Parts: sequence; C-alpha cells; structure tokens
Amino acid sequence: MSKISGELPTAVPLPDNEKDLKVLVNKCKDWAIMHGISMRSKVNFSEDIVQIAPFILTPTSIPSREFNKVVELQTILQELLHKIANDREFIKACYRDIIEADEFSGRLYKIYEQVEEEGVAQKIAMMHLRSDYLMQNTMNNNFKQVEFNTISASFASLSTFMTDLNKYVLGELGCTDKLKNIPNNRSLVGLAQGLIDAWRLYKDQNACIMFIVENPVHNISDQRLIEFEIKKLNPTIRVIRRTFLEIHTNGSLKDNRELVIDNCVIAVAYFRDGYAPSNFPTDKEWDARLLIERSVAIKCPDIKFHLIGQKKVQQELTKSGVLERFLTETKKIKAVREVFMNIYGLEFDEHGDRAVQMALDNPENFVLKPQREGGGYNIYGSDIKDLMLKINNSKERLSYILMERIFPPVSKGYMILPGSQPVLTELISEIGIYGILISDGQKIVVNEQAGHMIRSKVSTSNEGGVIAGAAALDCPYLF
Ligand code: ADP
Ligand code: MG
Ligand code: MG
Repeated sequence: MSKISGELPTAVPLPDNEKDLKVLVNKCKDWAIMHGISMRSKVNFSEDIVQIAPFILTPTSIPSREFNKVVELQTILQELLHKIANDREFIKACYRDIIEADEFSGRLYKIYEQVEEEGVAQKIAMMHLRSDYLMQNTMNNNFKQVEFNTISASFASLSTFMTDLNKYVLGELGCTDKLKNIPNNRSLVGLAQGLIDAWRLYKDQNACIMFIVENPVHNISDQRLIEFEIKKLNPTIRVIRRTFLEIHTNGSLKDNRELVIDNCVIAVAYFRDGYAPSNFPTDKEWDARLLIERSVAIKCPDIKFHLIGQKKVQQELTKSGVLERFLTETKKIKAVREVFMNIYGLEFDEHGDRAVQMALDNPENFVLKPQREGGGYNIYGSDIKDLMLKINNSKERLSYILMERIFPPVSKGYMILPGSQPVLTELISEIGIYGILISDGQKIVVNEQAGHMIRSKVSTSNEGGVIAGAAALDCPYLF
C-alpha cells in the first residue's frame, strides 16, 4: 500500500525474549477462550468447539483527542440517521438508480415501498449503529469515516472482553500505571440494554426477543453473549434464535399483525442475518423478511434503517447542502462534515463522468465500493481501472460509489491467530463506535453512544475481516 509513512507510538513495551512472550501468549489465549473471545472454526466446524477469535496481544495507540471526538459524534450521527430514515423522498432519490442496477438493493427497496404503502405496522424501531473510522495519516491522524453499519454490526460482545483482556495484559507486563489509558467499554451491556428497552416498549411481558441468525453460525460467542447479558439483566425475558427459513415455515401474522413463531409472540426481531444477497438463496427467505417487516414486532433494524446504511446513502450524504437539510445546528453539521471523505456517485451525467475520469487517472487514491456489507467486496488500485473500463457504459456503473482513499498510520503488534505462532506485524487499525437509537415515528426515545471496538489488519492488506482471518480484535490505548 503506498503513501503510508506515519507510525503510531507503541503503547506498552513488548516482552523482549521468546520465553516471556510464549508464556504471555499462552495465558492470553486461555484468558480469551475462557471469557468468550472465541468463535467456531470455518475449517473444522463443530457446534461443540470454539477457538480463539484472532486478537492483538497488546493495545494500539489512538490519540485521545480523536477518540473522544468520534465518541461525541455518535449521537449526532444517530440524530441525522433518524431524520433521514423518516424522509421518504430522500430515500427514494437515493435509490432511484440503484434499484435497477443492483438486484439486492432493489428487493430491499421494494419491501420498504410495500410497507410504506400499506401503512407501517410498528412505528417504534431500533438501530444498533456502528460507525467505522480510520486515521488519515496525511491529515494529523484525524479520524475519517470509512462507513457506518445499520444492520448486524458485530463484535459488541467480544470488544467488551477485549477491554478486560488488555487490562489483564497490562498487569502481566507490569504496566498497571497505564490502565487509565484503556477506556471503559460498554459495548455489550449497551446493546443488551437497548434490546431490553425495545422489548419493554412492546408492552407484553410474555413476548420474546428473537435473534434472526444464519445457519451455521461462526461468530457464535458474539451473539450468545448478548443473549446471556439480556438474561442476566432480566431473567424473565425469553430469547429465541431462528433462521429466515424457520420463520418462513413456522411464522405467521395474527389479525392484529402480531408475529407468532412456535407459540412465541415476537416483541423484538434483531437481525444478525439478512445483510447480504447470499442470506437470501430463495424467495422463502425474502418472504420471511417481508413477513417480519409487515408485523408489529419492533425490528433492529427496520427496513428504513437498513436501507439508509447502504453505501449509496453514505455517498449522497457527503453532497453539499445535504447535511443542512437534516441538521439545523452549524456546530453539528461541522462535526459530521469533518469526518467525511469525498465520495462520488457514478451517474451518467457530468459529475459521474468526472468521477470516472478521476478514478482512471489516479486509481490508487480511491476505493470503489458496491452496495455490499461484510467486507471483501471493494475494489482497489489497478482493478478499479479495469472494472471502470468494463462497466463504463452499462447500468452496473450505477451500483458503485467512488470513495477517496484513507491512508492510515501503522503500528506494531503481535497478531494471535488460532493454531499459529505469534508474529510481530505492522498493523492498520480501524475503530468502530457503537450506539443505540430507538425511535417512535418522528420522536427519538433513546439516543446514546454505547461502546467501541477496534480491529487491526496487516498493513499490506486492503481489507481485513476478523471472521475471514485477515484482521484481529484489538483495544485502544489513549495517548
Ligand atoms: P463493508 O461494509 O464491506 O465492511 P467497508 O466500507 O467498511 O465495507 O470497507 C471494507 C474495508 O475496506 C474497510 O474495513 C477498510 O479496511 C477498507 N476501506 C473502505 N473504505 C476505505 C477508504 N476510503 N480508504 C481506505 N480503506 C478503506
Ligand atoms: Mg459495512
Ligand atoms: Mg466495514
């Protein structure tokens, strides 16, 4: 990756001999596995076995100024997204071109239109937002937003335990004076409490919280720990897990549009599935998605919150004058604008043509993104050029957005992966800030920031998915 120069200071001194390193790594692996920093193996899948989730041995330095800035920004972003979600004209305009160019977006949008036309059954909706940032090395290491996720944002559970693991590591390294530099993290309890708040608003003591899940599930600990936290906070709430197929087979709407599955009334439907085309192999899964949306169950997220998380909306937001349409306070507009990179649409007009030309001239300065979630879909460098030339005259061009590339500083850390020796690696860290929004129509009921996560990837890799094994969970060390 070009243009990387800056290096972040090392947070804590690493063990300076092999033996001490080995002892520390073994302790941390055991700590991790025994506290839920774990997942199921993709290679040797078994429901009876979890292995460590990839993690970084010691915390990564993050400027406290930048960390506090994005923590404070979270509720402003959520207010903004709440307003966008309630602006049908804006959503319609964002989706005008991509519903034709991208089948998945088109089908989601169709669900939205259908429920808007027949009247939204449940006005209360919940969003668990994770807004992701990288430091921009050329700009004083300021955080710039990579994207935000409004559906299935993962690792809220594991991140809380990563904070505890890093406190343990500092103790083992004899750096207890540095514990104050590890910020508290309420990512797990924040999400569990948010789901309970939504459940309470449904006003039926016997109704359940339903997690909508894939089959098989690799990131099981991250999901189960939320369920267990809910039960810890309120043991009376029933939590069930169902796939779209099970909901299709066993779910139905009563006359009052209550969603009932296997004799459970669903108060809250929390999506950990349904964010990618591969989650909908047949029309049965789509029918289940629609069934849930038409019900009075409170969804996290409902279809409007899902739609506004797509990359196209993120691009439209960066256009001049758009923030002003939704936020009135200049201070808030400025704070949001400050974290934006330029993002360009590729419409068949002079703006789109100019963006295509910029990408062809300097592909290394951009990332080309389709309307997808979950990592691994973006296009970089010379591949941008090849694809642009291929799709330049087809409607497929409309399904992408072109984003200015962020060039982050690097740091050094030991990446701990299951089954392999720790290697000291040059890393790039992406931070995510979580938050909970619960709205009742136009009214905001809950709007709070709820913890953080960091994941770090090898500096030479373009993208790093933790589940894909290219990145590892980390913890911020504020300096
Ligand atoms: P997804 O929804 O699939 O996670 P992202 O927009 O987060 O899509 O992109 C995936 C990864 O690509 C990010 O985690 C980051 O590592 C990298 N990436 C995305 N946008 C940029 C950018 N503008 N500059 C540098 N890297 C980026
Ligand atoms: Mg995403
Ligand atoms: Mg992402």
